[in-house]
Formats: sequence, structure tokens, C-alpha cells
Amino acid sequence: MNDLRIPILFSILTILSVLSFMYAIWVILRQKQVTDLQTDFINNMTHEFKTPISSIKLASDYLVNNETIVKDVRLKRYSEVIKEQNSRLNNQVEKVLNIARLEKDQFKLKKERIDLTDFVKMITAQEQMKFDFQKGILTNHLPTEPIYIMADRLHLTNVLSNILDNALKYCQDSPEVQINMSADARMATILISDNGIGINTDDLKKIFDKFYRVSTGNRHDVKGFGLGLFYVKNICDAHNWNIELDSVVGQGTVVKIKLPISHTA
Ligand code: ADP
Repeated sequence: MNDLRIPILFSILTILSVLSFMYAIWVILRQKQVTDLQTDFINNMTHEFKTPISSIKLASDYLVNNETIVKDVRLKRYSEVIKEQNSRLNNQVEKVLNIARLEKDQFKLKKERIDLTDFVKMITAQEQMKFDFQKGILTNHLPTEPIYIMADRLHLTNVLSNILDNALKYCQDSPEVQINMSADARMATILISDNGIGINTDDLKKIFDKFYRVSTGNRHDVKGFGLGLFYVKNICDAHNWNIELDSVVGQGTVVKIKLPISHTA
């Protein structure tokens, strides 16, 4: 009987290693399936949504500039509506695509050296139109000198415009938003403050969670996916930037981002 113990022990160990090997293969195959599904999703979404959106954009650009249409007030308004709504649709599709790309393993930042002072100036000018449209005020207080950081230009644009869009969306009556930027020897700090509805402490803890939205009650009926701040947080983490939100219900919210300065060209 003693003679049999060792072969039995070896057989059990062999069976256990084969089982764990099979389990590992199964996990790898499953992960590959998920990655393939994500790749398919991004490709399909790009093709099925972005292609028609681009065609509508071309056509509506033509319509809003067409002399015959411009003369007819009603037709002019209709073509402007098509253009505006198409651009809104494009923004939403971009948001979903950004999240899908973010969750795919191959997500890589294309970092370059950027003058943040100049960049924030440009974003303020870009966002100004949206604020004008909603009779809001957007101001900035920036350093006079260039402040360099390493960042992915596209994602940095998305981060700042997501935060500014929220400041405009979750406002009370007339939105007033300030962008303040300062820097010391190591870090640049951007503060984006609004005078909006604010966020309570419990919601603030979950604000970066995927799909998290503050339960609105009767306070506001602004629509969204709850993906904006999830994306913002992921991009900040990927760059090693620190992001925090401070908020007082009924008074407003301050978003603070700290970014390491790049000293070498
Ligand atoms: P979405 O705006 O699409 O719902 P976000 O992830 O950008 O998604 O924001 C999550 C939630 O955080 C929002 O639903 C809103 O309730 C709250 N929120 C975000 N920014 C602000 C802000 N500046 N003021 C008040 N509430 C905000």
C-alpha cells in the first residue's frame, strides 16, 4: 500500500496542474474574446455612426452656406438645426468611443510637450461660444509666462471640455465659470470653479464611478451617461495628474487638477 502512495500523490498533482493550466487557457481565451468584441464595437461604431455623421456634416455645411437657402428664414433655421444636432450627436458618439478605446488594452497616450498657459487660453476661446449661447460667463486668470507639461493633446482637450461642459450643464440660472491657473517650481494647478447646483458629500465620493449620476429629483433634468468624469479621472490617472472635486450644494463646484511641470525641452 505504501508503494502506491507516491504514484497516487503524483497523479493528483498532475491532474491539479493540468486543471489549472486548462483554467488559465480558458481565462486567456475569454479575455481575448472580450478584447475582440471591444475592437469590433469600436470599428462598427466608427463605421455605422461616424460615417453618416460626416456625410450629414458635409451636406449641412453646404446647406447653411447656400445662397437660396440663406434667403429663406425658415429653410435657413432648419439647416442650422440639422448642423447643430448633428454636431451634438457627433459629441455623444465620440464620448462613447473614447470610453471604449480607454478600456481596450492598447490604450496609449501620445504625450508631447505643451504650453499649458497657451492651451487653456485656446480651450477658453473654443468653449466661449457654448457659454455665449447659454448666456453664461467664462473667464480665465492665467500666468503670463508659458508653463510646460507633458500631455496627450486630444485627451487634455477632452478633459477640460468635459469639466467645462458640466459646469455649464449643472448650473442654476446664469452660469459663471472661472478657470484659474497657477504654478510653482514642480506643479501646475488648474482650478475650474462654477456657481452651479453643487454636489453633496455622499455623491462626491462616487462621482468618478462609471455611469454614476447624481439622482436628480426635481432639481434638474439634464441628460447624460455618467461617463464624463469617469473618462476624466482615467485620463488624469494615466498622466499621473491629481484631480479632486470640492463642492457645496447650492453654491457651486471646484475641480482642481495638479499636473507635474516638464522642465526639459
Ligand atoms: P453626465 O454629465 O453625463 O451625467 P459626468 O460623469 O460628467 O456624467 O458627471 C456625473 C454626475 O456628476 C452628473 O450626472 C452630475 O450629477 C454631477 N456633476 C458633474 N459635474 C458637476 C458640476 N460641475 N456641478 C454639479 N454636478 C456635477
